[in-house]
Amino acid sequence: MLKAIHVTKKFGELVAVNDLSFDVEKGQIFGIAGPNGAGKSTVYNLITGFFPFDGAIEFEGRNISGMPTHRIAQLGISRTFQIPRTFPSLTVEKSVGVGSRFGDPGGFDRNYVDRIIDFMGLEAVRRETTGQLNLLGKKKLMIGAALATRPKLLMLDEPMAGSNTSEIKSLMHLIQAINTDLGVTIIIIEHFMKVLTELTGTLLIIQTGTKLCCGDPREVTSDPRVIESYLGEAYADGIPS
Ligand code: ADP
Ligand code: MG
Repeated sequence: MLKAIHVTKKFGELVAVNDLSFDVEKGQIFGIAGPNGAGKSTVYNLITGFFPFDGAIEFEGRNISGMPTHRIAQLGISRTFQIPRTFPSLTVEKSVGVGSRFGDPGGFDRNYVDRIIDFMGLEAVRRETTGQLNLLGKKKLMIGAALATRPKLLMLDEPMAGSNTSEIKSLMHLIQAINTDLGVTIIIIEHFMKVLTELTGTLLIIQTGTKLCCGDPREVTSDPRVIESYLGEAYADGIPS
C-alpha cells in the first residue's frame, strides 16, 4: 500500500533519513521504533509532503513524492502529531467536523462525524471546548479528527507518550479497533515495546536514519543488534518489556 524506496532527507549537513526503504501492506499495523533523533517523525513529514527529498514514496502504486500535503491527504493518508495539536476554542464536535469538512473526499458528513465521536468515546465531551480536555481526551480528539478525513492509512506519532498504564490500554484498544472495525491501515511510531509487539504485524527499527532491521516484532526485539543499539543491556537481561 505504501512503499518508501531509497528515501534520503538531508537538513544541511545532517542526514536525517538515509537510503531508507520499507513496504507497508494494506490492512496491517506497521510499527516504527528507534532512538530519539533517529528520523522517525521526519519519515512521516516526508510521506505527508512537508519537505522535498531524494528517492520515492508510492501510495497504492502511485508516486506521491513532491505532491502537496492536501493532495496526499485527499488520496487517503492522515496523521497525528507527537504533541497533540487541537483548536483550543473549538468544541470537540466542531474539531472532528473540521477533519470531515476539509479531508473527507465526499465533503462534510454529519453522520460520519457522529460515528467517529462515538467510536472514539468522546460522546460525553462533544460540546466541550478542546482546551478543556485532559491529555487522553486531546489524543482521542486528534485521532478522531484524523479519522474524520476517512483515511485509508493513518499514521500515529508516539500516541502513548505521557500516558499512564490505563490510558495506554485504552489507546491500544482504540488503535486495534480502528484497524479491525474501520479497516484502516496503520503506521505507529512508538517507544513502548510491549505496545509494538502486541499491536504490530511488522516492526521497523531505524537508527540514524537507516534501517537496522524490519520484520516480525518479536524477532526484531530479540535481535542482538537491536538490543545492543537501542533497547540496551537491561532489556537483554530480560528486565523490561
Ligand atoms: P525522531 O522522530 O526519530 O526522534 P526526527 O525525525 O524528529 O527524529 O529528527 C531526526 C533528525 O533530524 C534530528 O537530528 C532532528 O534534529 C533533525 N530534524 C528534524 N526536522 C528537522 C528540520 N525541520 N530542520 C532541521 N533538522 C531537522
Ligand atoms: Mg519524533
